[in-house]
Amino acid sequence: MAAADRSPPIYDVLVIGAGPAGTQAAVSAAHQMRHVLLLDAGPISRRRGRAYWSKTVQIMDAPVFPGVTGPQFAKALQAWAAAQPERRVRMGGRERCTGICRAAGHALDLERLDDGTFRVTYATEPLDREGRVGASSTARGRTVVVASGFEDGWPDIEVDETALRMYRKFQVVYRYAGNRRGWHVCIRCDGHLHVDQHLAILGAGDYIFDVVQGAQDFTDRITVLTNGRPHGMSPPVRAALRERGAALEEGRIAAHVGKGLDLLGLRMADGRELFFDGFFVDEGLTANDAFLHRFDAARGADGLLRCTADHQLLDSSGQPLDGLWAAGDIVSGERNLIASAFASGQDAGLEASDSLRRWAPPRREAPH
Ligand SMILES: Cc1cc2nc3c(=O)[nH]c(=O)nc-3n(C[C@H](O)[C@H](O)[C@H](O)COP(=O)(O)OP(=O)(O)OC[C@H]3O[C@@H](n4cnc5c(N)ncnc54)[C@H](O)[C@@H]3O)c2cc1C
Repeated sequence: MAAADRSPPIYDVLVIGAGPAGTQAAVSAAHQMRHVLLLDAGPISRRRGRAYWSKTVQIMDAPVFPGVTGPQFAKALQAWAAAQPERRVRMGGRERCTGICRAAGHALDLERLDDGTFRVTYATEPLDREGRVGASSTARGRTVVVASGFEDGWPDIEVDETALRMYRKFQVVYRYAGNRRGWHVCIRCDGHLHVDQHLAILGAGDYIFDVVQGAQDFTDRITVLTNGRPHGMSPPVRAALRERGAALEEGRIAAHVGKGLDLLGLRMADGRELFFDGFFVDEGLTANDAFLHRFDAARGADGLLRCTADHQLLDSSGQPLDGLWAAGDIVSGERNLIASAFASGQDAGLEASDSLRRWAPPRREAPH
């Protein structure tokens, strides 16, 4: 920005998260001449966005990027946002800012100020092992698009209790290997790697049957592992699982059996070793939205944010929350795929932009 402009800007749109949903929201808003801050935790944390962890497996069904790996995809998104840089334009004799300002930051808090704008507070350097914040910064905006996704739950195998956060033993290796022989989290994404192979599916409860049904698009050789928990399936679902020929193993898993970065099998607590060709896990998720704690945002049964058809956030009474939109995986009921994230990101970015045509700060009481 020009050196003359010393006061911090009030952005038209604050986008929190720069995966496919947030990047698309930012690009779409900038394309409508909006001034956008695109905030991303990736550069300062292990929260790189879900696609990033597809380290060596090629993503085959993301639009326009056939066969890229996660890190290449993340770079392509950054280049795309960088192609809409922040700049000044003259319109109707007045100068205004447009384009995308990209900032590395982990959003910690979002609040609505008395003048109707939002203020986001974000960490600008990595949180320490206890999650304590070092340096932080703030930015203001008239509207917000929340596109910060979620973190996948991971199986409780060989967890070193003294280690904190991501510092877990083999779990980390096999998760972040992101290869065809590590833990997969998305049957739709990676099922095609294991056609007619023997799959382990880890989870418990009725929902795991949905994963089994999805897996049967690729193979009939399936074993459900509950890792020491009761299977938790209702009688009709248990019967359906049996009918579909899937095996059930309720023993506790003691350790991974692997070679290099390849996960080959699992050693059970009773000493047996079970080997599989592919490993899928569904242990739930955690929405990356702690910064929304001041808002009474409605959530679906999955813990994700509920929105209108136009991707505006809803409050717990079902009313739209003024100025707040959401897109991508963080939205309850989304398909949790890249193309869907782009689509909802575009919708949220455009809706936030359109709302600015009628944006006005809340009216103040006239002084007596
Ligand atoms: C291993 C793996 C493989 C996959 N393979 C495929 C595939 O083949 N095809 C497919 O279509 N989909 C695939 N998916 C799903 C796909 O990656 C997601 O659906 C998609 O990335 C969701 O996009 P998003 O923008 O909503 O969220 P994400 O991509 O998760 O991006 C979220 C962004 O928000 C940022 N963020 C998080 N918290 C904060 C915060 N507090 N402050 C600021 N920023 C924050 C993160 O840094 C990140 O940049 C895969 C997922 C995984 C995990």
